[in-house]
Amino acid sequence: MNFECVKDCSKCCIEREYYPTIKFGKVGVLILPEEKEKIESYAKNHNLKITILPRIGISHEKSDGPTTIIAYQLMGKESNGNTCPFLDTESIERSPHGGYICKIYQNRPLACKAYPVIESSSPIVLDSKCKFCENCGSTATNVNQEVRSLVKIKNKMITNAPFVWRYATGIGDESNKNEITTGWFLEI
Ligand code: SF4
Ligand code: SF4
Repeated sequence: MNFECVKDCSKCCIEREYYPTIKFGKVGVLILPEEKEKIESYAKNHNLKITILPRIGISHEKSDGPTTIIAYQLMGKESNGNTCPFLDTESIERSPHGGYICKIYQNRPLACKAYPVIESSSPIVLDSKCKFCENCGSTATNVNQEVRSLVKIKNKMITNAPFVWRYATGIGDESNKNEITTGWFLEI
C-alpha cells in the first residue's frame, strides 16, 4: 500500500515517547552533530527558543561518560516533552494533508525526512505509532526518500567504539517524574 499522511494528522511532530524506557525520559527528534548548528540558527531566525540535548555518545574507555557525542535530540517545547518547537500550531495555514505546518519543512532534520520508516532493509517497516499504520499496517511501497534518509542516519552513526552511552533526558509527564532520571548511562 502507498504511504500517505492521514488527513489533518500532526501526531509525529507532537507526541514524544519514552525511549528505551520511562527511566530515560522522553526523547526528542534525533539531530546529527552536523545538523545541530543549522537547527540552532533556524530557531534563531524564527525567534524560537529550543532545547537540544545529547542523545548517544561513545568512548574508547569505560569512564564517567562519553568523549564524543554522535547524536543529539531536539526536545519538545511542552514541559512533558511533547510538541516540536518548529511546529506552527498558531497559524491557520495547513500542510497539503491538513496537518500543522513545519516552519523549517524544507530544512527539517534527516530524522523527520526518514519518518515513519524505522527499518530500511527488506521488508521496510514503518513506525507502528504513525497514524497511517493504525489503519493500513506497518508496511508501505512508496517510501524511497524516507528509506534513503534513514540509511544516511544509520551510516553516520556507525561506530567501532567499545562503549556506547545513552543520555536520559529527565523530561516527561508529571505522573512519571519519580521514575525519570537524567544524565549518561552506559548502554554497551
Ligand atoms: S507521518 Fe504518520 S504520524 Fe506523522 S503526520 Fe503522517 S500520518 Fe501522522
Ligand atoms: S522539525 Fe518539523 S517535521 Fe520535524 S518534528 Fe519538528 S515540526 Fe515536525
